[in-house]
Amino acid sequence: MKVNYHFHSRVSFDAEYPLAEMCRAAREAGQRHLCVTDHCDLLDEYGKPDDGFDWSRVDEELRQARAMFPDLEIRRGVELGQALLRPESAERVLREPGIDFVLGSMHNTPAGLDYYWTKFTDRRQCLEILEQYLNYLLQLSGTDFFDSLAHLTYPIRYMRFRDGVEVDFHPFDDLILEILRTLAERGKALEVNASGYRQGLGEPLPPAYILRMYREAGGELVTIGTDAHEPGHMADGLDRAAALIGACGFRYITLYEKRNPKPIKLEDVL
Ligand SMILES: [Zn+2]
Ligand SMILES: [Zn+2]
Repeated sequence: MKVNYHFHSRVSFDAEYPLAEMCRAAREAGQRHLCVTDHCDLLDEYGKPDDGFDWSRVDEELRQARAMFPDLEIRRGVELGQALLRPESAERVLREPGIDFVLGSMHNTPAGLDYYWTKFTDRRQCLEILEQYLNYLLQLSGTDFFDSLAHLTYPIRYMRFRDGVEVDFHPFDDLILEILRTLAERGKALEVNASGYRQGLGEPLPPAYILRMYREAGGELVTIGTDAHEPGHMADGLDRAAALIGACGFRYITLYEKRNPKPIKLEDVL
């Protein structure tokens, strides 16, 4: 798969590699259409407001990477987290001219901490949090704070796969369908995040049944990315995720330029 529209450089709080090194690894893996999506979490991982995102740092990384690899197409994106909880800050970040692509993310529980920092102990607690998570995403789906909805089902990696609580998203299939319909109607994309394969989930985020629901709801725009935070992870799970996208009935992968979707035939980028 030649497209990777979700990965992080040292501009992100949780990554340390220059963008050029990430791009070198991508290039060696045969990738051509890239978009860097560094974290801009408007509430940080502890729930504290954060306005530290600096586009000039992204631009410096892009300048170096593009000079080194002129044969790669490297777009200028951002992974915008918790936008609805601080809508004025989100508007300010997105007022920046020349943004190619915005991933919409929700990383924090209703209590404010990143899912990463939350201990999950029982099914009831998890179901309550999942319902709030999905209601947030439904609200987000109706806004222009994003182009592609990132890693839908994200909390499950911590609830089930880390903390061992037997829980899944099926009790909320109706709510998920409502989110997917909203995306489809509004011309927003759904991200297929391949990191689930690397993390042992055996499936991307979201899993195949949700991709099929989206397709059946009329959804056509999907983006794909590895969510790599280091060069060694740039290609992890990407080909499997691409094959699954095809198997779920999608014919195109969506690239973005200046926040406009540019679908490209799946078969042309495999
Ligand atoms: Zn994320
Ligand atoms: Zn990410």
